[in-house]
Amino acid sequence: MCLDANCLFCKIIKGEIPSYTVFENDDVKAFLDISQVNEGHVLMIPKKHLVNILDYSDGDAQKYLQYIPKIAKAIMKAYPEYDGLNVTTNNGESAGQVVMHSHIHFIPRKTGDGLNVISRDNSKNYDEASYTAVMNKIKDQL
Ligand code: 5GP
Ligand code: ZN
Repeated sequence: MCLDANCLFCKIIKGEIPSYTVFENDDVKAFLDISQVNEGHVLMIPKKHLVNILDYSDGDAQKYLQYIPKIAKAIMKAYPEYDGLNVTTNNGESAGQVVMHSHIHFIPRKTGDGLNVISRDNSKNYDEASYTAVMNKIKDQL
């Protein structure tokens, strides 16, 4: 484990700060987000101090992100009244990242819950050419 003494989520991994843990193994820890945006809101963190997704190697991704479906399915089974789930991660301050230890949010959803996670339809500003240019710009880096 590679942990940072000053990091809030590393302290949670070490048990220095308590958490309501729903799943834990050598790789990851999943626990309730203190804010409970909707009931059942869970955070999953790698047991290694990675700042955010931009800090992951391919190996880190395989190791740590493989648990996403497992946690997602458990939440949905636990809360049959929800019929949707946002799995999101904020990367960098401008994207709303407050805690600088990578974490995946699992936010269960139901129609009419009033949550507005991300909604902006900019499609009127795009046509085939601009969609293609954006596609190629990212594709060229993969
Ligand atoms: P971010 O904005 O960085 O994506 O999300 C950070 C999340 O961490 C927030 O949703 C916030 O509620 C949660 N959080 C902050 N401090 C604590 C804490 O001490 N314990 C738990 N369980 N969650 C925390
Ligand atoms: Zn950390």
